[in-house]
Amino acid sequence: MSETKYIFVTGGVASSLGKGIISASIGKLLQARGYKITIQKFDPYINIDPGTLNPYEHGECYVTADGQETDLDLGHYERFTGIETTKYNNYTTGKIYKSVIEKERRGDYLGKTIQVIPHITDEIKRDIMFLGKKNDYDFVISEIGGTVGDIEGLPFLEAIRQLKWDLGKRALCIHLTYVPYLAAAKELKTKPTQHSVKELQSVGIQPDILVLRAEHELSQSLRKKVANFCNVDADAVIQSIDMPTIYEVPVRMAEQKLDTIILNKFGMKVNEEQVILGPWKDFLTRRHNAKSVVNIGLVGKYDLQDAYKSILEALSQSATYNDYKLKTHFINSEKLTKEDVGEKVSAMDGIIICPGFGQRGIEGKILAAEYCRNNDIPTFGICLGMQIMVIEFARNVLKYADANSSEMDEKTPHNVIDIMEEQKNITNMGGTMRLGAYKCRLDEQSLAFQAYQKTEISERHRHRFEFNDTYKNEFEAQGMHCSGVNPDTNLVEIVEVPKLKWYLGTQFHPEYSSRVLAPHPLFMSFIKASIENKEQKQGK
Ligand code: GLN
Repeated sequence: MSETKYIFVTGGVASSLGKGIISASIGKLLQARGYKITIQKFDPYINIDPGTLNPYEHGECYVTADGQETDLDLGHYERFTGIETTKYNNYTTGKIYKSVIEKERRGDYLGKTIQVIPHITDEIKRDIMFLGKKNDYDFVISEIGGTVGDIEGLPFLEAIRQLKWDLGKRALCIHLTYVPYLAAAKELKTKPTQHSVKELQSVGIQPDILVLRAEHELSQSLRKKVANFCNVDADAVIQSIDMPTIYEVPVRMAEQKLDTIILNKFGMKVNEEQVILGPWKDFLTRRHNAKSVVNIGLVGKYDLQDAYKSILEALSQSATYNDYKLKTHFINSEKLTKEDVGEKVSAMDGIIICPGFGQRGIEGKILAAEYCRNNDIPTFGICLGMQIMVIEFARNVLKYADANSSEMDEKTPHNVIDIMEEQKNITNMGGTMRLGAYKCRLDEQSLAFQAYQKTEISERHRHRFEFNDTYKNEFEAQGMHCSGVNPDTNLVEIVEVPKLKWYLGTQFHPEYSSRVLAPHPLFMSFIKASIENKEQKQGK
């Protein structure tokens, strides 16, 4: 293997242009050519990780198998490329400063004044290079969060500038910008792109490739003009037009030969044949051909797409592989009442009871679980959603009217969900939950086993509270089966009600490990049951 190459992805003009999708697509294309890649994200905010952030601020918190709470873009990286990311794939300004300050306290820099340059920038450079150090990868793609021009992003850009200089031909920068369309003038405007490239150049970085996000097709002459103003080769100005699905992006990038351009710029030999995206294209064709719609209700408290990102992606992948289109409906658990729960929930083919924290919206989720259980609507409870299923069952079947989780009511006499022993003395909030992948053993006589078709699985966790084992026999006796258990600790990880069509909750988050080319078995099985439910309702 030749020496690792480094690709930096920066963004200009506006945030939310889809740098994460572009980074994941580049990874996908290089991977399709047989290269080993990894993708990492650098976030300029000061939190050590996004674990303590409200989903409204930041969207979903994605958890890696090794237990790091990370940015949701890592979910895109994993879903697109199938690679497993780690704690070394996501850094924040906070994490970088923490490490430098700890070194300072240890005396590693004894005698020196610690400064942004060189100490913080050296730390960033070390982190950028870390995954490539062992030469396990042909390419390390580093996405820089935020927008060029942000004050907090400057140390990252300075680190990239130095690395581009140090690495020479082994590094290149891809800059993603936006070309707005002014409806009144009927014109696409390149000025913001020119300005954002100037901004990059002013900190000493010359982008090698520009990817222009736009709502309309960009003409050849417009691309030439941008190339001209920005010192970029004309063929290295790529357009990225809004797509009906983000999964189209790698294909559109391949059509414009983004992968070939990258390899050429690195001076690498290029097999001129188009990259092979066979299974990926099959997935897109299936997605495109699916006509009927399966309606899934998400009972949760965040009316924001990004808050349940991985769940939405996992559902939509499974819908495609079941040859259906997915339509999701947000059902605000804070607004659900006894009177309207039936109407809202029964309009759906299947229900997800979403993960979450704290008291807000809990009773609405419990109402939804009760309605679904009594009316045999396929229901999937995830993390808090599983805990809700347990609480509801305890209240209405075991007849412990005051049953609760000790998260919601510390003094509840029937704490069917309880704080884990090892969590009791923890006072710090950041990074202290049960995080990352744990093994789970499945009972062969279960819905879970039917889905996975194996008895040993491993899934990712993010929670402090847990099924209270002292009630296990009562639940089992009354028809809620604990079908998945941690083989080392005996903790209950999956519950289900076998007499219903599909009523299952997982303490873990299966959505984190669903992939475009490998949809998650539980989501596949849940969507299938929801489709059957729909057909039954229609009397098919
Ligand atoms: N709040 C619950 C707990 O900590 C569930 C967390 C979640 O849904 N991720 O156990």
